[in-house]
Amino acid sequence: MAFAKLPPLSPLPLPENTVEVGQAVKKGWVVYEVKPGDTLAGIAARYGVDPRHIMWSSNLQSDRLQMGQRLLIPLVAVEDRPPRVPPGVEVYRVRPGDTLQGVASRYGISVLDLVSANPSLESLDRLVAGSVLYIPRKAKGLVVSLTEGQTLVDLAARFGLSPVAVARANGVKDPLDLKPGDLVLLPGIQAKTTYQRLLAKQEAERQARLEAERRRQEELRRLAEERRRQQALAQQRARQVQAQAQNRPQVRRVSYQEGGMRWPLAGGFRITTYFGQRGAFQRYHTGIDLAASYGTPIVAAKAGQVEVAGWSAVGYGFHVVLDHGGGVETLYAHMSRIAVRAGQWVEAGEVIGYVGSTGWSTGPHLHFEVRVGGVARNPLAYLP
Ligand SMILES: [Zn+2]
Repeated sequence: MAFAKLPPLSPLPLPENTVEVGQAVKKGWVVYEVKPGDTLAGIAARYGVDPRHIMWSSNLQSDRLQMGQRLLIPLVAVEDRPPRVPPGVEVYRVRPGDTLQGVASRYGISVLDLVSANPSLESLDRLVAGSVLYIPRKAKGLVVSLTEGQTLVDLAARFGLSPVAVARANGVKDPLDLKPGDLVLLPGIQAKTTYQRLLAKQEAERQARLEAERRRQEELRRLAEERRRQQALAQQRARQVQAQAQNRPQVRRVSYQEGGMRWPLAGGFRITTYFGQRGAFQRYHTGIDLAASYGTPIVAAKAGQVEVAGWSAVGYGFHVVLDHGGGVETLYAHMSRIAVRAGQWVEAGEVIGYVGSTGWSTGPHLHFEVRVGGVARNPLAYLP
């Protein structure tokens, strides 16, 4: 870009009319972003402009700058004429969304031709909106700025071209007419190296994008895998919890109408061992233990016939078994005394014995069982 070249840093503001020889200051605007430590005077000096001009053009109320603030710096025209653009070269201002390929095909030229006319391009992909592209409309070739002390003749010689042909292609009669900063078209010269470098850069960027995408996909895969693993773990835990719930003895409440029973102790008692728990003498407790004082009356939980009333060889001590019909039986163990005889009918609540600690027992309590079809069930399911 013709006007983007900045004068060297200068610690002191230069008088407005001073021009350093060789300085390629051009007319135009520079958008400058304020950096830490910047002062208006410093920036003005660096660009060789009056600080007041920056204030006016940037709409500043004071000379206090904020970091990141954008300033519009009006560059001072220090040349008597703008740099010369060869005839047949069009100045194109890049619009947002423009691509090099797009601009090239719009003008019917190759990307290489476009790169040759703009050898200072930094990328094949990124064009800066507002920047300038030189479009060779007639002869194709390399477009370069004439540097200080360089003549068209030198330039032609450097590229092995005839000075006359170069002068003709640039529409100049006298090769010495051109000044530093003027653009020169070197016909037939292609910026192949630049183009190849830009292509390589483009490919490297493409590979970097692919690599970044590959890493992103890998990360996504890893996350998905982790999520699946967590879900499987959660499902496994849920199954374990469910299995444990199924293994736990179920208390199914039986309504009174269905076969409800009353508590087999009339007085105060306390449940000391539940159904299914490991007891003092049983690995699996087949009933419930109700601790009560010695001699507390034991009553029939439901009306029925006395099936057993006597001593047990397997640890129940003095015990009674009642048959309630339909395969339902109740058992009352560790009695101190039995109050019924086998074959006798008892009503619900009728006294059948008294709390003791006979058989395998460590203290006065009633061991109470409910059996259905010969299988011990949880008595709590039948009790109110
Ligand atoms: Zn027991």
